[in-house]
Amino acid sequence: MADAYNHYIDGEWVDGEGTETFESENPATGETLGEFQKGTPADVDRAVDAADEAFEEWRELSRIDRAEYLWDVYHELRERTDELGEVVTKECGKEISEGKADVVEAAHMVEWAAGDARHPKGDIVPSEIPAKDAYMRRKPRGVTGCITPWNFPVAIPYWHMAIALVEGNTVVFKPAEQTPWCAQIIAEMFEDAGIPNGVFNMVQGYGDAGNAIVENDDVDTVIFTGSAEVGHHIQDKLGGVAGKRAACEMGGKNAIVITEEADLDIAVHSAVMSSFKTTGQRCVSSERLIVHSDVYDEFKERFVEVAENVSVGDPLDENTFMGPLIEEEHHEKVTRNNEQAREEGVNVLVDRTELDAEEIPDGHEDGYWVGPFVYEADAHADLTCTHEEVFGPHVALMEYDGDVEEAVEIQNDTEYGLAGAIISEDYRQINYYRDRAEIGLAYGNLPCIGAEVQLPFGGVKKSGNGYPSAREAIEAVTDRTAWTLNNSKEIE
Ligand code: NAD
Repeated sequence: MADAYNHYIDGEWVDGEGTETFESENPATGETLGEFQKGTPADVDRAVDAADEAFEEWRELSRIDRAEYLWDVYHELRERTDELGEVVTKECGKEISEGKADVVEAAHMVEWAAGDARHPKGDIVPSEIPAKDAYMRRKPRGVTGCITPWNFPVAIPYWHMAIALVEGNTVVFKPAEQTPWCAQIIAEMFEDAGIPNGVFNMVQGYGDAGNAIVENDDVDTVIFTGSAEVGHHIQDKLGGVAGKRAACEMGGKNAIVITEEADLDIAVHSAVMSSFKTTGQRCVSSERLIVHSDVYDEFKERFVEVAENVSVGDPLDENTFMGPLIEEEHHEKVTRNNEQAREEGVNVLVDRTELDAEEIPDGHEDGYWVGPFVYEADAHADLTCTHEEVFGPHVALMEYDGDVEEAVEIQNDTEYGLAGAIISEDYRQINYYRDRAEIGLAYGNLPCIGAEVQLPFGGVKKSGNGYPSAREAIEAVTDRTAWTLNNSKEIE
């Protein structure tokens, strides 16, 4: 890998104020991938100063000129997809096709944002007075702090940054501490594109560096994706502060509703993909399957069979379905949550919390392995395991026997509101679900899994505060001016 393991501030790779470093670790092997400087609040303040200084000139460029730098990044993402996809897999343990898909999704986002530069922004509206022009213009807010999670270490940073930059904001990026190598390559791409000094800045580090972004008075917008715990802390801090904006995307306790009309091939495929891909570590992963009693037994049998046999192993091997969990601390949390479900009295159907020694590939004994944990739970009981996000392959089967109204009531019985799916052949049921499920991302007859950059991506309730990523991020990083111009000599 590259040999500069420090921060990128004001167009240069610089040493930070602190002396501490941290390591990037391969979660499948325990191998150290690199050593990185641990950013301090002082490093963040320096990056914010650079971004603040660069803002006045950057905003003066046309959107099309700003987008030119993004097009260079786009081409580099496309040319280096395989290489960067492998880095994603090594650093966060996602199976290799998912590692590459992360980079492709980043490219899609950059393409969308750069292409959008040629679209007019704003609304022309009829004025009450004929000689007046009235329209709404958008203008950039200033310095945008981007705080990102580890599970989409390339795509999510670009969700945050591409639109912010095209709209004329400057950026301070604080990547997840688990994926600094990916972040380093992202910064190299902006450097290669020749983006003006201070427009893009990156400070590696932990939560204290993220917190310094939140606390810096010169940061106008904070875009955060990550856990509800940290997101709510950021919302609490910035919610009442004049001029500040926080766009926070958090986790979910997502569900798939499988009705009596469902095609069970689609249902099983959707449940397996949503519950086990990325080892259950996607914000949209499904940890609850709400299944109608008419099809419950057959669905259970088929789902359990897959859960018992799905391959867990080396994520660089294309035949692997599930890689490891991200780190030791998270492995402990998932193990604890599985035990807690047992203590809550659920009926455990599959428990691969500890894999057999022969399932673990040679040289991977130090990885953070876990297989599916599948159980039956009362759909109406107040259990922690069916209400709190685990962020692992931890799945509850819940039976209902009423109409879709009952299924949706169960689906909505959580403080979260991120994602969900319905599998049904009945369009009345599908339409009811679409309109009444309290979620921001709803899928019909599809795995609850993907993201399209043309669509808004975000949740409601405890999962997000209404400034979704992707297209709708424009709302987060711009302010509006309602402009009226008198085109006549008449004085009103
Ligand atoms: P996390 O909240 O632990 O960390 C996210 C980022 O916040 C990291 O960069 C971290 O260093 C930083 N951070 C930690 N403490 C902070 C503080 N006090 N102030 C400011 N920044 C701080 O999340 P994670 O473990 O990296 O990611 C997993 C979570 O992210 C899951 O809950 C998942 O559902 C969620 N997620 C949501 C989406 C979405 O779009 N809704 C997408 C991906 C992941």
